[in-house]
Amino acid sequence: MRILIIGGGIAGTAAALTLHQAGFEPTVYEAHPDNGEDLGAFLTLASNGMRALGQIGAASAVAELGFPLTRLRLIDASGTELADAPLGSPDEPLARYRCLRRTDLYAGLQAEVRRRGIPIRHGARLSSLTEDPAGVTATFTDGQSATGDLLIGADGLNSTVRSLISPAAPRYAGQRVFYGYTTDASAAQQKHAEAITMIRGSNAAFGYACSPSGETFWFARVSGPQATAEEMATTTPVEWRDHLVPLLRPDSTPAAAIVAATTDQLMVTNALDLPLGLRWNTPRAVIIGDAAHAASPATGQGASMALEDAVVLAKALRDSPSTSAALATFDLLRRPRVENNIAASAALTASRTPPKPGAGTGTGPNANERPPALTDAELAHQLEWTTPLPAGQSG
Ligand SMILES: Cc1cc2nc3c(=O)[nH]c(=O)nc-3n(C[C@H](O)[C@H](O)[C@H](O)COP(=O)(O)OP(=O)(O)OC[C@H]3O[C@@H](n4cnc5c(N)ncnc54)[C@H](O)[C@@H]3O)c2cc1C
Repeated sequence: MRILIIGGGIAGTAAALTLHQAGFEPTVYEAHPDNGEDLGAFLTLASNGMRALGQIGAASAVAELGFPLTRLRLIDASGTELADAPLGSPDEPLARYRCLRRTDLYAGLQAEVRRRGIPIRHGARLSSLTEDPAGVTATFTDGQSATGDLLIGADGLNSTVRSLISPAAPRYAGQRVFYGYTTDASAAQQKHAEAITMIRGSNAAFGYACSPSGETFWFARVSGPQATAEEMATTTPVEWRDHLVPLLRPDSTPAAAIVAATTDQLMVTNALDLPLGLRWNTPRAVIIGDAAHAASPATGQGASMALEDAVVLAKALRDSPSTSAALATFDLLRRPRVENNIAASAALTASRTPPKPGAGTGTGPNANERPPALTDAELAHQLEWTTPLPAGQSG
C-alpha cells in the first residue's frame, strides 16, 4: 500500500516510522523547506508518548535530544512548596518525561525517517486532493502531484487536509502562552535536578525546568484576549517580556526573575483547540495528530497523543482486512481518548486549576498525564506493537 503522509511534524514522521515498520510504503511531504513550522517553543513528551516511541525503536534517539524530568514541584504565589512528587514513570529510563526543543524533536524524528530509507520531500505544501475508488492524488502548491492508496493528513492545527474533508476552524481557548529560555542560572535561584516546577501564580500559570547544561526553559499561560496577528508580527521579544514581567512581580516566586533574565529567546502563541466530533476520514484520507484533535496546551499531551495515533493507525492498517475497517477501528479506539484530552485541557485552561501532585505535566502546568477514557492496561494493549488490536475492533 502506497501511503502519502502530508506533514513531517511529530504525527507525520511517527506515522512514517510505524507504517514502514508494518510493511507499508509511506512517503512524507513536508511544506517547510528544511524542518517544520512553529519551531521556537519547547515541549515535554510524557511517559505515554515515550512509550509509543518505544514501540518503533525511536525512544532512545529522542531521549538523547532532551533532558529527563522525573519530579513535579508545585509552589504557590507566596513561594511555598505545596508538593514535590514523582512524575510519570521515573524508574523506567526510556519512559521518563523528556523536555526538549520542538526544533530538535522534529529534526530528530525526520533524521530517523531518513535513516530508515523512508522518502521525505521538503518544500511540498499540499493544496488539494482528489480521490476515487482507484486511489488518492495530492496536488502541491509547486504544481507537482503524487498518487497513492491512502493519504494521511498530519499537517497540524491549520490542516489543509482537514479543510478539505471536515472544515473546522481552531478556537481560541482563552490564554496566551509565552515561552522562553535563559542561560542566567541565578534566575531560577535554586536548581532542582530533573524537576519541573509549576507555579500557581496570581496572574499566570508558570512552569520552568533547568537543563543539565544550566539553561532554564520556562513558559507562562496568561488568561486574556487573543493576541492579534498584527501584535504577533510587530511585538518584539523584549516588548513581550516587559509586558509579562509586571504580571509576575507581585508573587514571591522565581518567575519574574527568570523572565526578566530572558533576552531575545522569547515567543508567544495563542492557546487554540478544535471542536469535538469532527469527521476524521474519507474512504482514502484520514487526519491524525493536531489536524484531527488539537487540544489547548494545558495538559501537555498533544505531541504524545500524536505519537500514540501513529502506532494505533499503523496497527489498525496492519491488522484489518480493509482500509475502511482500519479507519473505523482507528476512530473507535482513538476518539474517546483524544477528545477527553481536548475537554480536560479546555477545563483546566478555563478554571486555572492547580496541578495535582503526582500528575504529569507538559508545557501546561496542569497536567494530566493519562487522559481518562482508557485504563493503563487498555492503552498498553493498544500500543504494544506485537499485540493485535482488541478483538472485534480489527475488522
Ligand atoms: C503553545 C503550545 C505548547 C505545547 N506544549 C506541548 C507539550 O509540552 N507537550 C506536548 O505533548 N504537546 C504540546 N503541544 C502540542 C504539540 O505541539 C502538538 O500537539 C504536536 O506538535 C502535534 O503534532 P502534529 O504532527 O500533529 O502537528 P505539527 O507538529 O504542527 O506538524 C505539522 C506539520 O505539517 C506541516 N504542514 C502544514 N501544512 C502543510 C501542508 N499544507 N502541506 C504539507 N505540510 C504541511 C508543518 O510544516 C508541520 O511540520 C503544545 C502546543 C502548543 C501550541
